[in-house]
Amino acid sequence: MTMKKYCLLSNDVETTSIWHNTLRDETGYKVLKEGMPLLLDLYAKYDVKSTFFFTGYIANLYPEIVKMVQPYGHEVGSHGLSHEKEDGFDIMPLDRQIQHLKESKKILEDISGEEVISFRAPALRVNNDTAIALIEAGYKIDSSVASQRFDMFMSFGGVKKLNWLTAPRLPYRTSSKSLFKKGDGALIEVPLSASLIPYLSTTMRIFPRLTAIQRRIMAYEAKKTGKPIVFDTHPNEFIDESNEERKIHKRSSNPVAIFLQDTLRSKLKVKNLGPKGVKIYEKEIRYFDQKQFEFCNIKDYCLKTGFLQ
Ligand SMILES: [Zn+2]
Repeated sequence: MTMKKYCLLSNDVETTSIWHNTLRDETGYKVLKEGMPLLLDLYAKYDVKSTFFFTGYIANLYPEIVKMVQPYGHEVGSHGLSHEKEDGFDIMPLDRQIQHLKESKKILEDISGEEVISFRAPALRVNNDTAIALIEAGYKIDSSVASQRFDMFMSFGGVKKLNWLTAPRLPYRTSSKSLFKKGDGALIEVPLSASLIPYLSTTMRIFPRLTAIQRRIMAYEAKKTGKPIVFDTHPNEFIDESNEERKIHKRSSNPVAIFLQDTLRSKLKVKNLGPKGVKIYEKEIRYFDQKQFEFCNIKDYCLKTGFLQ
């Protein structure tokens, strides 16, 4: 039996500078003026409808960044209020999670005039309270779980991310107590695509050959099981700040953590940034286009598949 094949391209919009390894308003401005237009043109070329998850912070700073995606039929989703390491959803208490979720939703709804129901956690950091907080704050869809992705402690929240290894692969209704488990809760989880290796634009830029193998596996799985491709990209990858003097910002005092999370990670993460990254991303899109995948945003996917009424 052949299943209908969906490709859900998604974008996390934030002020993170990959080059400087820190959050910067100036980077947010470049995302608005350079990264977003490149991405929007690319999507228009292939008639892609996607979901943009904005931090409340960047939306407040440059409201036009939210408005610019709407004429194309893209969905506006929330990427939390702030991308600060201290504001990770895996370490915030429940009441602060609710507050962050409500505030970012309100900011985005005020700007867009649309109801915002989809969420992706900054750095995909969530805990068991996040399922409760999302419902409480009025969200219906989460896309923060990367089933079967193994990060080997190279990203924050490494231990909690081990929950990904046992999370279901196909979209599911979550348990009311955990995003990582199926249940009869009100929330829909649309997991990010991964094998053990993350399938997202960072890996794509650093190891394009590996991604080419992975995309075939994902396409095969989509054909067999109906699992949608859920690809994660960031407009801040399509800007070039390499003309600026670079200081690698250290986020930890532990020398091993500094090596893995800052020095090594930063060296790798700057590969193929800017317009070169767009070219690589286009190959990904062309592959799924030729295989007759339907590109839609996450909310529309949930409507079409009956998860959402
Ligand atoms: Zn992010």
